[in-house]
Amino acid sequence: MQVFKFGGASVNSLERIKTVSDILRGFQKEKLLIVISAMGKTTNALEKVADAFFSGDNQSALALFEQIKNQHLTTAKYLLVKNYLACESQLRDIFTEAEWLLHDKPVRIFDYYYDQIVCIGELLSTIIMSHYLNEEGISNAWLDVRDIIRTDDNFRDANIDWSQTAKNLEMALFTTDQSVNHIITQGFIGATAENESVTLGREGSDYTAAVFANLLGAGSVSIWKDVEGVMNADPRQFPDAKLIGELNYDEVIEMAYYGAQVIHPKTIKPLQNKSIPLYVKCFLNASLPGTVIHNRPVKALPPIIVIKEKQALVHLHTQDFSFIGEKPISDVYQILAQLHIKPNLIQTGAVSLTLCLDDHAEKIDLLAAQAAANFDVTVEKGLELLSIRHYNGDVLERLSEGKKVILKQQSEETVQMVFRT
Ligand code: ASP
Ligand code: MG
Repeated sequence: MQVFKFGGASVNSLERIKTVSDILRGFQKEKLLIVISAMGKTTNALEKVADAFFSGDNQSALALFEQIKNQHLTTAKYLLVKNYLACESQLRDIFTEAEWLLHDKPVRIFDYYYDQIVCIGELLSTIIMSHYLNEEGISNAWLDVRDIIRTDDNFRDANIDWSQTAKNLEMALFTTDQSVNHIITQGFIGATAENESVTLGREGSDYTAAVFANLLGAGSVSIWKDVEGVMNADPRQFPDAKLIGELNYDEVIEMAYYGAQVIHPKTIKPLQNKSIPLYVKCFLNASLPGTVIHNRPVKALPPIIVIKEKQALVHLHTQDFSFIGEKPISDVYQILAQLHIKPNLIQTGAVSLTLCLDDHAEKIDLLAAQAAANFDVTVEKGLELLSIRHYNGDVLERLSEGKKVILKQQSEETVQMVFRT
């Protein structure tokens, strides 16, 4: 068994949906579990529905939802002939489920409603894809992943109950038609023991693919994207970015930590546990080699560059000039934990501590206010953070040229610099 994952960008137009089917036609003889995301920007659109609903504006919520319905019905109409009616009726069941809720008044927390509404994107896309592929002769079975992925009720960031999920999966595989090689299901969503829908965190479909691979002992996972593979920098910022053909789990975790938008960070652990290789492939050209990520050492990596804009530096100075020892440090970490702030860089000095953070104004205000009890606080905004793994003198010079470096941290492997631009 292998696991494939197709992201939202691979199903955001009729042309791309046809490309997915062309790719899968080449794997018809293989057992595949295929995880598919919501189409294009559907998740963002559903987030707006959830916001409108929770603010009490049922009219707007329903109107926004109507647009999403129509987009999916139109897509289904263009793609399907024989299976259109069956598909439409399955889509309408999902629409009705949502509309029931959208006529209500919110009485529970926002995150609960968010998950009940946002989970719909993946259900709609996979229903359409399953019917379309069947109509194209790529026979497959559709699974509602909410019958399999069992979680707690930590809405919007639910935690998987692995043993129940394993049992559910075994049962589902046992009852699916053995002559069907492909199973189509959703990423990113699951359900609690009470059958309430949950989501696993934005971009969580990669993680779902990894969870399935772990439980199935899959031979590999392939994530199909609209890029050539994993690049050593964001090609939008660096047109000369290069493909990295081979990486290992450690390196990918490091890259994710420094902010590279490669693969959802939770994805690696379930794969690493069972040494399952992960391929990042390009759905626009399946013959390209892409990137393979595995458990073995990889030598001679190029410099890997991550730039984060909109950074803020929060500078904390002890009021009584006492040293930055365990007490002030634990005070600061407590505030960070409480506010769910993850600093991108921390530098400690004798009597001061500096944090580089994504500039979320509300959070920084709260942090500054709380830290002011023990520290003199100054905040500087509008900065840029550059991180380079496997740096060399050349890149360092090129990327810092003409910039004002206000903070720098350097180890043998990694250098980070904060610039005033
Ligand atoms: N559709 C979800 C999102 O856009 C999950 C995913 O695509 O991985 O975040
Ligand atoms: Mg995505």
